[in-house]
Amino acid sequence: MIEDRGLTVILLGAPGVGKGTQGALLADSFGWEHVATGDLLRAARREGTELGRKARIFMDEGDLVPDQLIVGLVKERLERSPDNGGVILDGFPRTMVQAEALAEVLPPIRRSVDVVLLLEVGDEVLVKRISGRRSCAQCGRVHNVHFDLPITEGICNECGGRLDHRKDDTPDTVRHRIEVYHELTQPLVDYYKGAGEGPVLNVDGEGSVDQVRTVVQGALSSLLGVEVQGGD
Ligand code: AMP
Repeated sequence: MIEDRGLTVILLGAPGVGKGTQGALLADSFGWEHVATGDLLRAARREGTELGRKARIFMDEGDLVPDQLIVGLVKERLERSPDNGGVILDGFPRTMVQAEALAEVLPPIRRSVDVVLLLEVGDEVLVKRISGRRSCAQCGRVHNVHFDLPITEGICNECGGRLDHRKDDTPDTVRHRIEVYHELTQPLVDYYKGAGEGPVLNVDGEGSVDQVRTVVQGALSSLLGVEVQGGD
């Protein structure tokens, strides 16, 4: 490990690029926390909190939730993380305002951005990947009706739970989400390249989950000096 403080890795990339899948795998491999703002917002909606109610309309339209709601959520979440534990930020920051807010939030909790991992996949592949996505309501395992059909329609292969189609995963909403990504989130790549913090690592996300995982794990291991836990 670089020094005795918690590592902070940002996962950047368009919707459907595999941030959620790779974020969960990395968290598992390195024993890090996976902080996915989309998941936090969906949990807030399920629980019917004020944040969840406010976020609903933006999420269903494929728009970004206002910065001030998200920054507060992430700040509060990061302050609860163990000081020397690794954190993967998945889906945050998504705007310049969020990136600048993160730069203020991290130093008081002895963190800085160690690596920005940029996953890249062509837009048409993204549309197919996301609109075919079906997530298990019970265990969260993601299937895909184009690439990874469940054995029984509508039922999770992993745990037998019900497979849901996210409201914001329809082709039109997906196209809009990709436009929003290009307009508001992609500029963060240049921001981080010029920020003088951790390096920006470009990874081709079009391979299989295992191929991408191997590349990402190898790169992070050598850059950050971290080891996969449990010899996996
Ligand atoms: P995701 O699961 O990361 O694709 O996020 C689903 C939706 O949650 C997005 O389309 C946004 O509406 C909202 N969301 C998640 N993260 C953010 C963020 N950092 N800023 C604004 N909105 C977000």
